Amino acid sequence: MNFDDTIAAIATAMQPAGLGVIRVSGRDAANCVKSLFVDDSGKSGILHIPERQLVHGWIQDQDQVLDEVLLTWMKGPRSYTTEDVVEIHGHGSVLGLQSILSLILSHGARLARPGEFTERAFLGGRLDLTRVEAVSDLIQANSNLALKQAAQQLRGRLYLQIEEFRNRLVDIASILEAVIEFPEEGVDFGNRNECIAKLERLYLEVERMIQSASQGRRIREGISIAIIGRPNVGKSSLLNIMLQEARAIVTTVPGTTRDTIEESLQIEGLAYRLTDTAGIRESDDPVESEGIERSRKVWQEADLTLLLLDASKALNEEDQTLLKQCDPGKTLVVANKMDLCPKKQPSWLEHLKGFEWQPISAKMNTGIEDLKQNIHLHCGSGIEHQTEEVWLTNLRQQEAGERALAALKRALTGMKEYEGEELVAVDLRSALNAFGEIVGETTSEDLLTRIFSEFCIGK
Ligand code: GDP
Repeated sequence: MNFDDTIAAIATAMQPAGLGVIRVSGRDAANCVKSLFVDDSGKSGILHIPERQLVHGWIQDQDQVLDEVLLTWMKGPRSYTTEDVVEIHGHGSVLGLQSILSLILSHGARLARPGEFTERAFLGGRLDLTRVEAVSDLIQANSNLALKQAAQQLRGRLYLQIEEFRNRLVDIASILEAVIEFPEEGVDFGNRNECIAKLERLYLEVERMIQSASQGRRIREGISIAIIGRPNVGKSSLLNIMLQEARAIVTTVPGTTRDTIEESLQIEGLAYRLTDTAGIRESDDPVESEGIERSRKVWQEADLTLLLLDASKALNEEDQTLLKQCDPGKTLVVANKMDLCPKKQPSWLEHLKGFEWQPISAKMNTGIEDLKQNIHLHCGSGIEHQTEEVWLTNLRQQEAGERALAALKRALTGMKEYEGEELVAVDLRSALNAFGEIVGETTSEDLLTRIFSEFCIGK
């Protein structure tokens, strides 16, 4: 893949920092930078510098020095994008980096679109789509396990697994070809059975991968926890104490948290997304109703619900309605304000039959560590030990995997029911195509554009 234009962007975050990196990629990368760089010996230009080495020098605009930098250049295809790449490591001054970038742009480069460096790496054949997604996941990882998973995917673990499936499918397809070409009974019978056995094994493995895809997604996206309860039971206080920072506004006026507030927290290396819902109840106020609707949705889709009660009071109608709507298998009742509950056998206990419950005081910070461990026990424990599994990690991969599985099933049924081999071959091809979508070989242009546009500039 050869592009006519050369692209440039600041690759590091736009805030004051120790270092800032500018990346230039394309056939004119060296030309766009050469007149701006002067090394320690006073020599300008960069092509005399051995490639892939860091060289100390200065970026200057005519006689004005802009920054002290380390510069390196990499000749394509041995670079991130597979094109010629120049990287300038300067100080992380936003203004300084912008000035250098403008100079480079004035020497013929074009400002890169979000994700365009990675797109070139993909089009140049250096990264398949699972590794492209891993780059984005790695940058955005919000837990240690998410980071580890992204790094493994970046090393090609998922890609290699899909390739292995594809090779086996090609192997099966070639046996099928033999059946099509030599339909004498003897050849057909043996080959057909071999085909079925191989297809069956492959089917089961792909099925297992699809079934466990939710694990991979949970690691990447975080496990969702909905905090529900009537106003004033202490939902915001719980969220705050769990996060150890006062993000949600704690207030004594019921119904002021009109929307959902989501925060992320790590327990044992896994990300949990905690959502403090607006009070879930009937309301005539249209704004509040909308917030309540959103809350219900979060609640329905959550992996676990924390239903908060005020332990200092008897349950009122609102508490009891919520309790009735909760699935005991997916709910942990949290009895808050235990500091105000002197009784050994409070009246609300009898309503909690069938539910697991946990006493806490958000105000006094008691029971919070136990609550975190209990949440992890319910939703996440065990995931961290399954490090050898290869997981699909997002919905796109999962849906393509499901298409592959459905095609494999059709092929298998076709083989078993002595359907024409040509028809079975069509299903095998569909399965191959679906695997191709996962790694980006048969992915539509629109989808690729969408994936890259979600990247940040400079990546
Ligand atoms: P929300 O409406 O459910 O989000 O409730 P808030 O978190 O805003 O808390 C309502 C009131 O209860 C505030 O005045 C909190 O300080 C108080 N509160 C929250 N948790 C506790 C607790 O464990 N003990 C006591 N005594 N007060 C609490």
